[in-house]
Amino acid sequence: MQPRDLSALTPYVPGRGAAEVARELGVDPADLTKLSSNENPYGPSDAAVEAIEATAERVGVYPKASHTDLTDRLADHWGVASEQVWVTPGADGALDYLARAMLDPGDRVLAPEPGFSYYRMSARYHHGEVDRYHLSKDDDFAQTPETVLDAYDDHRILYLTTPHNPTGSEFARADVRELAESVADHTLLVVDEAYGEYTERPSSVALLDDYDNVAVTRTFSKAYGLAGLRIGYAVVPEPWADAYARVNTPFAASEVALRAALAAIDDQAHVDDVVESARRMRSYLRAELDAPTWASGGNFVLADVGDASAVADASQRNGVIVRDCSSFGLPGCIRVSCGTEPQTREAVDVLNDVVSEVEA
Ligand SMILES: *Cc1c(COP(=O)(O)O)cnc(C)c1O
Repeated sequence: MQPRDLSALTPYVPGRGAAEVARELGVDPADLTKLSSNENPYGPSDAAVEAIEATAERVGVYPKASHTDLTDRLADHWGVASEQVWVTPGADGALDYLARAMLDPGDRVLAPEPGFSYYRMSARYHHGEVDRYHLSKDDDFAQTPETVLDAYDDHRILYLTTPHNPTGSEFARADVRELAESVADHTLLVVDEAYGEYTERPSSVALLDDYDNVAVTRTFSKAYGLAGLRIGYAVVPEPWADAYARVNTPFAASEVALRAALAAIDDQAHVDDVVESARRMRSYLRAELDAPTWASGGNFVLADVGDASAVADASQRNGVIVRDCSSFGLPGCIRVSCGTEPQTREAVDVLNDVVSEVEA
């Protein structure tokens, strides 16, 4: 037998893992600096680690109270009703749940190019068709209502990423508001704020008071350092929030992930330190890399290096893993995540050597 025709579905291309690269190069993974997946170089808060350890003995039962506790805690944080918080396995899971709730077969979605590939993948899993709006390098990847509306044609879902991965560019909240008003009532604006903690701009969650066609996705994978646990959420408008019960996979998030997220959200000092460091390191990357870079609202910087694949390969041989953005549709660019200060300094030294060699 065979699965259904999957030819339109493309596999997700993750940033390369340290263990994988170490095996290939025959070196110790601990000797590699991995700045390819926008992970938090400091990891989770100690309180989250303690919560994970303490939960080990309780994993024999399904997570129920912890799910309620986290939705209540997040609802409180955002000033929304608990029902409006859809806890999911990673923010990727939130994208899936929103697609499940919105898409009928053949419905069309509009996603950014270059952009995060999972919007397209998730829409296709749910039998949707994908169109793209283009962010232009000539325009510094500016995100404006016009960039989006030029390509908009009554789509069922419109994905916005702010701060945008991999370019770092951002929407002003007033522009998200303008989009919410410009699109048809049946168009859901999904505002992906995976990097929302790193920007100075306000979240779009506040727009949910005024619009019932805006949903915001957030994650514990980045600033909270819990990428390995797979936990995120969407905040959705109150009028259709009860759809969660019809589309969620039972017990969407694990007991361990829920308890860790609860502990992490209460350790704001850790998040503040992480964000402060990332902001310093992104300024440092922009100031010191010998390549054109773009302003970033995230914990990463996009750099124009000419031959991204050659630069990423050579950098990796020198112990620093960065993201070749060819799979994002930017074959000239690499994306460098903000590491700790020593990691980021090492990355700049290695990349500046490599870039001058590759150009020579
Ligand atoms: C990292 C990321 C996500 C979510 O990742 P999860 O680990 O699934 O929470 C979502 N959108 C963008 C643009 C990202 O970079």
